[in-house]
Amino acid sequence: MIPRPELVFEPLVESMRAIVQTGPKAVEVQERERPEPGETEVLVDVHSAGLCGSDAHAYSYEDGYEWIPIPRVMGHEYAGTVAAIGEEVDGLSVGDKVIEEPIHRCGDCFQCKNGQSNVCQNFSITGMHTDGAYAEFTAVDETFVHGVPESTPLREAAVTEPTSIAARAVLERSTLTPGDRVLVEGPGPIGVLVAMIADSIGANVLVSGLDRDAKYRLPLVDDLGIETVNLAVDAAEDRMTSFTDGRGFDVVFDTTGHHTGVEDAVEHVRKGGEVVVIGLPGDGSELRMTPVVRGEIRIETSYGSQWRDFEQAIRLIDNGTIEPAAMLDTSFDADDPTAAFEAFLNSETCKPVFSFD
Ligand SMILES: [Zn+2]
Ligand SMILES: [Zn+2]
Repeated sequence: MIPRPELVFEPLVESMRAIVQTGPKAVEVQERERPEPGETEVLVDVHSAGLCGSDAHAYSYEDGYEWIPIPRVMGHEYAGTVAAIGEEVDGLSVGDKVIEEPIHRCGDCFQCKNGQSNVCQNFSITGMHTDGAYAEFTAVDETFVHGVPESTPLREAAVTEPTSIAARAVLERSTLTPGDRVLVEGPGPIGVLVAMIADSIGANVLVSGLDRDAKYRLPLVDDLGIETVNLAVDAAEDRMTSFTDGRGFDVVFDTTGHHTGVEDAVEHVRKGGEVVVIGLPGDGSELRMTPVVRGEIRIETSYGSQWRDFEQAIRLIDNGTIEPAAMLDTSFDADDPTAAFEAFLNSETCKPVFSFD
């Protein structure tokens, strides 16, 4: 057989496994080229990567996520170790434990310069605008990387991003004080994290869910020692009335991602209280403003998070205020991503985490 020298001299391209979205509700594991870090980038050896509500929306390819170019390597919540650094990287070294801020601010627009980088006009999101971290390796500009303490396991550090969102909502955007009666609507990952943080500062927290949450997500919250209510049971309204002595909640956090969440929040907040909407509620709201004004109800929003929220989240995880182990579900295999997405959409899990170790 005649040898083919052009193949012999071809440089070896290192490959890696990655979870790639190939269509609506279609994900598969593919071999991809391992990225090379640019001059200001670090190459991260991904250890663990979580699945969040926005990943599930993207997987469904609906509700405003249809713009994402596919095929796309998904994933934006992860932790790993620095495997290589670009020439101009000076703040990080090979071997450092890190997480990424997946919403990349531009740094130049009015909002970025005005201290509101979470609502940057030109942001791009890892795993949506660009290939993400459901892969053995990912390259990211050092600007968006935070170091993680040696004492934090990487699997737990993988939930830093959703923790930063919860920290911002509770500690920056709400007026919550110890002793407040708080309703958290929605026992998804953000709801659970919001409940943990509100509980940690001495609020009286009740988490509400639907019937489909009764099997997995509400019991998970119960196990944290935080009270829950299933809205499908007849006694739910009485439960909320007695929880608040008939006054309504001081603060309601809506993490449902559904427009009825805000409407329900306004029903259950006390006059003079506060509603904080976290996550995109979708269109179709029939919110009536008259009772909102009559009750002087404050409606607040919280979107994404900033550098300081990430740093706070890292500390909350490291000092045990947030216990990620209580919510992490490591039973899903990165080689069978469909199972994790479908289970998440059916509320049969809360925070699936893929291992790429
Ligand atoms: Zn997320
Ligand atoms: Zn900007």
